[in-house]
Amino acid sequence: MKKDIKYVLGSIRRADQDFGLIAPGDRILVGVSGGKDSMTLLECLRRYRMFLHQSFDIVAGTVDMGWGMDMEPIRRLCEGYGIPYAVMPTDIGKLVFEERKEKNPCSLCARMRRGALTNLAKEQGCNKIALGHNREDVLETFLLSMLYEGHIHTFSPLTWLDRSDIVQIRPMLYVPEAKSLGVARTLELPIVKTECPVAGHTKREEMKELLQTLNRFKPDAQRMMLRALQDTQRYDLWDKVKRRPLGNRRGRTGGNGDFLPPDYQTPGECAIISDSTEGEADDDTI
Ligand code: SF4
Repeated sequence: MKKDIKYVLGSIRRADQDFGLIAPGDRILVGVSGGKDSMTLLECLRRYRMFLHQSFDIVAGTVDMGWGMDMEPIRRLCEGYGIPYAVMPTDIGKLVFEERKEKNPCSLCARMRRGALTNLAKEQGCNKIALGHNREDVLETFLLSMLYEGHIHTFSPLTWLDRSDIVQIRPMLYVPEAKSLGVARTLELPIVKTECPVAGHTKREEMKELLQTLNRFKPDAQRMMLRALQDTQRYDLWDKVKRRPLGNRRGRTGGNGDFLPPDYQTPGECAIISDSTEGEADDDTI
């Protein structure tokens, strides 16, 4: 549907405006795994460049996992568009599954793929890497971090990789998965099936199901969750009342610039002390 293409382009433009993802003169390596999201990103970034009349270069790049994936359809598409296409051959698949026999392979695999993609970007003279993570990926990562690592985190729209001096961008953060799929289907983009033995059976898949369950209770749950993540002005977490060293709370300016006069007591400050005590008690029961 043409509507999906328009929607995805609009979402990319919004992410670009919100986070300053793309600048004139950039040379951007689009990480192409062969899945629908990376193919949609490649296609839409190409259209976005025409629409913006901006001068940035696009290079498509694939990390070959060593599974004998057929990259020809992607190569042909890139040739047709006049976009350079580079492949980084690796043994990541063999290393993760045959040699290390990882029980939870995704974390090591993702780290190694990221490293290989960064090397490929350097090799191709790129200053940025664009990844095709969509809205659901953001929310699944948020749930994974919270439920399995106990911390609040998700992908950043923009990350500076300091060792390689490359900036990683995620222009499709606002794009719902269904729209990305709609573009791939409408334009008949070549989708290359992954040979990964655990694809479709990961913790991420479980988070996908959890999101779908949430959506059954509240049909716009995903939109609202993304809105909560975006609205940083209204974050209301415990960092604001976290207990600081006493010297910082009484009559001195603390490291974070706050100032409370001696003996100054507010209901808020009382709550700090009792919250903290409760926290300690709760920890013992875990
Ligand atoms: S699903 Fe397969 S390819 Fe993807 S991160 Fe996990 S191990 Fe790697």
